[in-house]
Amino acid sequence: MDIGLFTYSQGKIGMNLKVDHCPGCGSIYQKNFRNMCSTCSMKMDRDLADCIDHLWKFPNVTTDELSEATQISVTSIYKFIKEGKIAKTYGRLTYPCECCGVSIRSNRLCGDCSQTFKEAAKQIKATLIRTPANVYNINK
Ligand SMILES: [Zn+2]
Ligand SMILES: [Zn+2]
Repeated sequence: MDIGLFTYSQGKIGMNLKVDHCPGCGSIYQKNFRNMCSTCSMKMDRDLADCIDHLWKFPNVTTDELSEATQISVTSIYKFIKEGKIAKTYGRLTYPCECCGVSIRSNRLCGDCSQTFKEAAKQIKATLIRTPANVYNINK
């Protein structure tokens, strides 16, 4: 919890200075709405255009095949799909569940994992409610 707060206040300082490390190449850049330096955002635009171009010609490729054909990393392609920059109509384009890595086409987690998460959240909630002040209300 303390660490979280610390990181948050650091982030605020970063925002005041309006510079940050680019997540793409690590160089210092002036903060902008795309959260990356201009070199990287230009490269991303080009990568995305290449992907869309390839998909136009080969709509049935998988994520791996697309990556191989365009020389764009699967990680970038996953990002494009998740951010909705590549239409979800391409049925063979998948990305891994953030929890177990199984191939999915929507949301951040597969069905199994989101179920597990829901159960865990329910349990946490139940534990939180079981404080002495509320015991009476629950048992009623
Ligand atoms: Zn960069
Ligand atoms: Zn999963």
